[in-house]
Amino acid sequence: MTHTDSHENELLKTTVRAFIKGELLPHEEEVDRLGYVPEEIGRQIEARSKEIGLFASNLPERVGGGGLNYTAMSVVEREYGRTSHALHSWIARPTELLLACEGDQIARYLEPCVTGEKRELFALTEPGAGSDVMGMKTNAKRDGDDWILNGSKHFISGPCMPDFAIVFAVTGYDETPRGPRKRVTAFLVDVGLKGFDIREGNKCVSYRGYKTFELSFDDVRLGPDQILGAEGKGLELSGKWLGMGRIWVGTTCCGKAERLLEMATDWAANRKQFGKPIGSFQATGFRLADMTIGLRTADLLVADAVRRADAGQMEDMDAAMVKVYCSEMLNKVADDTVQIFGGMGLMEELPVHRLWRDSRLERIWDGTSEIQRHIITRSILRPLGA
Ligand SMILES: Cc1cc2nc3c(=O)[nH]c(=O)nc-3n(C[C@H](O)[C@H](O)[C@H](O)COP(=O)(O)OP(=O)(O)OC[C@H]3O[C@@H](n4cnc5c(N)ncnc54)[C@H](O)[C@@H]3O)c2cc1C
Repeated sequence: MTHTDSHENELLKTTVRAFIKGELLPHEEEVDRLGYVPEEIGRQIEARSKEIGLFASNLPERVGGGGLNYTAMSVVEREYGRTSHALHSWIARPTELLLACEGDQIARYLEPCVTGEKRELFALTEPGAGSDVMGMKTNAKRDGDDWILNGSKHFISGPCMPDFAIVFAVTGYDETPRGPRKRVTAFLVDVGLKGFDIREGNKCVSYRGYKTFELSFDDVRLGPDQILGAEGKGLELSGKWLGMGRIWVGTTCCGKAERLLEMATDWAANRKQFGKPIGSFQATGFRLADMTIGLRTADLLVADAVRRADAGQMEDMDAAMVKVYCSEMLNKVADDTVQIFGGMGLMEELPVHRLWRDSRLERIWDGTSEIQRHIITRSILRPLGA
């Protein structure tokens, strides 16, 4: 990063922090209590984020996006992490998968997502296929030039009812030395199509108000122009962008950990027991020291990964390390913060319990900690033929 870049990113940080503080934080408590984001609040966040140029800031300028590079985007995501996903997800960052749109798909899907006229969902997970993506049963069979889609997805999340979903389905098998392997294809599936049912699913206790949807497909007819990318190349397409998604999870974890650490530090300096601030007891002071080390390390890991991504050199292992380290760091910081607050840490009157509850999801979505460790292990051992 050049000196100019770092100055610009400081300004970016100040702008986003002020926006989060003024427009999102005031709604946190209400949204958590209600369990949903009132439509007018979501739309207001959407509109204000467009006014200040944050909407679709992750996408390149050539498609109408903000054109931020990964390093700048990490500054933005870190600030978003200070508040609830239920709120900051209204500031759209359309999935970069949509950059694979071609021909008419650009005007039908990519451009409306950049302007905010449409919202998409990323639908990979199924009730029987979570970590084991290849356990996928949703399938599409050829019928002339068309495809007939059947199956179901769950835990597919977003801030509000979407306009379409990017749905991954099995479209055949490839013969490999290890036996037949599923060919997976990504389809653009419009809400409202005959046979496509979408409804709100289970309610998550992390980020209350952020919605998960259940999708089911019963003989949904799709034209050949509904394929995103190439037939049979869905996992290559998603794999390319899943890595960045994992880095954004890690980055938001750093923002949330910073907020918790600020609260814990303030409490430790002001809460007195035995006539002294509790921070003066080594047990509390060392806890704060370890939290600070964890956050600094996580930030450095993110900075290294986004630098690699900007240079086109990021590998699966880089993203996996960010995801597992930052999410586990956050969970430790959240738990330590509750401990430093004592009983007050679990009382509804303070936000600590909420951030602690929100933090728990980060070790699960976008690939669990175990799956990230599996990716790292594979990267280490595969070059040795093991
Ligand atoms: C709030 C929320 C939002 C989500 N949003 C989306 C979305 O928008 N789109 C989408 O496609 N998905 C989404 N997901 C799904 C998410 O990615 C999955 O929940 C996650 O990948 C784990 O899958 P699972 O829940 O089925 O757990 P499982 O795969 O059943 O795992 C259960 C446990 O077994 C462990 N495990 C499984 N296999 C192994 C192994 N080989 N080695 C060691 N341990 C293993 C896991 O690590 C975990 O601890 C969302 C999930 C949640 C909770």
